[in-house]
Amino acid sequence: MTDTLTININKAAESRLADTDFASLPFGKVFSDHMFIAEYENGEWSNLQVLPYGPISMSPAISALHYGQAIFEGMKAYRQADNRISVFRADKNFERFNKSAFRMAMPAIPREVFMQGIAALIEIDEQWVPHVDGYSLYLRPVMFATDPYLGVRASDKYTFAILTTPTGPYYSKALKVKIETEYTRADEGGVGFAKTAGNYGRSLYPFAEASKEGFDQLIWTDSATHEFIEEAGTANLIFVLDGKMVTPSIRSTVLDGVTRDTLIQLAKKAGIEVEERRVSIKEVIEGIENGTLTDAFAAGTAATVTPIGQISYEGTLYTLADPETRTVSKAIAKTLNDIRYGLAEDEFGWNWVL
Ligand SMILES: *Cc1c(COP(=O)(O)O)cnc(C)c1O
Repeated sequence: MTDTLTININKAAESRLADTDFASLPFGKVFSDHMFIAEYENGEWSNLQVLPYGPISMSPAISALHYGQAIFEGMKAYRQADNRISVFRADKNFERFNKSAFRMAMPAIPREVFMQGIAALIEIDEQWVPHVDGYSLYLRPVMFATDPYLGVRASDKYTFAILTTPTGPYYSKALKVKIETEYTRADEGGVGFAKTAGNYGRSLYPFAEASKEGFDQLIWTDSATHEFIEEAGTANLIFVLDGKMVTPSIRSTVLDGVTRDTLIQLAKKAGIEVEERRVSIKEVIEGIENGTLTDAFAAGTAATVTPIGQISYEGTLYTLADPETRTVSKAIAKTLNDIRYGLAEDEFGWNWVL
């Protein structure tokens, strides 16, 4: 039994829902009416509240801003066929959040604060969970250090917040990606496996450079040799090679994606052989050239399954199998979506129906 926590509810005077155009939703710019906040001080989480979404005041000296003690998560709530709302695999996100917290010397968030915070927020902003197929409410838990102190040490105080933003369908135009062999996203022994702010900050410049050359995303490689494929920086990578599903194994430099894990389980159930191991650039390029690489896609909560259409490596652009022929990823992506929207049986117990 978990205790029901006391969450102070401060309702917005007016909803912004009627002014929101669900037909043209830019990702992550429109927030629902409320947010959840909890504060950590003297070794405990308290002051749990749901309040109108908006600015919060803080000292410009908070250590999150100076030294990057900041972590986040990303998951989605779906309106199911029977109108109930379900959050997909929230317990995986909860566990990963605390793994990130541990590595960043931040306090763990208790399960009930994380879960009851989500539940309270969705209850009050129920109407923000879109009613249209392909849409969902993206949930963004975040924790940051709030000590107003310039010394470099783990903060004593933290804020935990959950923001929510409705999102539209992701048009999965095949991506044009570049294998990055100069810059790195993560290093052995570092924080690549954690969803912590600095991992994204360091990727922005290399990404902006690649974007000028017309690339949609980068494929990050291992920092020691640049010979092995790691991930895409906001999504994991999965290939179909010789009929097997092949994906870079999870290590300290690769984030353990919930979508990746989900697709692996669905593929195994469908009788597809799955290999989690180091994946070399060489075998991927050879597979494109000799036709044994029949599918390649990015897997993440935001985009679900996005086909990769072209890969650039050391100045050569390789074109992959026509996305229309990608039967493996299409079939498992459909199964995943059907489970999320309550259209297929949730055999694995992934949906947390509120
Ligand atoms: C969030 C994220 C992913 C995808 O993880 P999901 O749990 O599937 O959303 C992959 N790589 C990085 C670096 C990420 O931050």
